[in-house]
Amino acid sequence: MPRWKRLIGLRQPDPDLYALSDAACNPAAGGPQATPAPGDDAPATLEIRYLGTAGFVISDGCHTVVLDPYLTRPGLLASLTRPLVPDTALIARLIPEADDVLIGHAHYDHILDAPDLCRQTGARLIGSSTAVQVGIAAGLPPEQLLATAGREDIASGPWTVRGLPSLHGRIFGRIPFPGDLHAPPPWPPRMADLPHGLVLNWLVDTGGLRVMHIDSADFIDTELAGHRCDIVCLCAIGRQARPNYVRDIVKHLRPKWIIPCHWDTMITPVEAEPDLLPGVDLPGFLREIEAEGVTPLLTPILGRQLFDQPGDAGPA
Ligand SMILES: [Zn+2]
Repeated sequence: MPRWKRLIGLRQPDPDLYALSDAACNPAAGGPQATPAPGDDAPATLEIRYLGTAGFVISDGCHTVVLDPYLTRPGLLASLTRPLVPDTALIARLIPEADDVLIGHAHYDHILDAPDLCRQTGARLIGSSTAVQVGIAAGLPPEQLLATAGREDIASGPWTVRGLPSLHGRIFGRIPFPGDLHAPPPWPPRMADLPHGLVLNWLVDTGGLRVMHIDSADFIDTELAGHRCDIVCLCAIGRQARPNYVRDIVKHLRPKWIIPCHWDTMITPVEAEPDLLPGVDLPGFLREIEAEGVTPLLTPILGRQLFDQPGDAGPA
């Protein structure tokens, strides 16, 4: 680790923490690999790949939904001082397929790479009206843009996705870059050109498993209550600002697994060893999850978790 990083107190995650993950769901530990065959009623395995920050790829081999992709990750100085240019080749190499791309909120570390990914794959960009303004700025055609105010089921191939209105967490006591876009921002944008817009927690229902994506550390109790899920992708940064964060998530959603996200600094190259965000207590987060009776699946960046799907999953 460079000296300047040590001087400002950056650390890397303890590799032992990854071992807390359920070995049966971890391909690195010899878990099953999805091999859906044409004509199968239901792919038996769902793969969730972590992209760093709040990014995930959810795929059963037949259908792929991507959430909050952000692979470009310029360094700290470039992020703060220059327009942010998506790394088209990197996006194509690491996310070759997508049917739909869902945006939790429109901050740069959640949306910057989404329009490029949609352009390369033909996927739709689905998110708030602010997220759609970002897609327009990047040149996506109307047929690849879908705005939602949440609370509506949206067909995504054989799956259903639904945005639940939510809130942005407080980082060091304040909500960064609040507000909405009512016109396309400059493209490529600077960090401050992208306010968060409506925040959406995404529920992805594959027919066999239900996955909730919470990309910022706050939420609205009445929106989440009663939406039972199998897996929650849960933001780590800012969780201390929300009293009973993990406890209330588990009370509302009753998940079996929680995959922590948004715990790294997002300024290291995506294929390099990540640094922990200052203020993120990852061991404490994992302990809180376990204390609620849920299995934490801490996943390395670009690592994967595999889940068996019940036999009635997918299209008939
Ligand atoms: Zn944000």
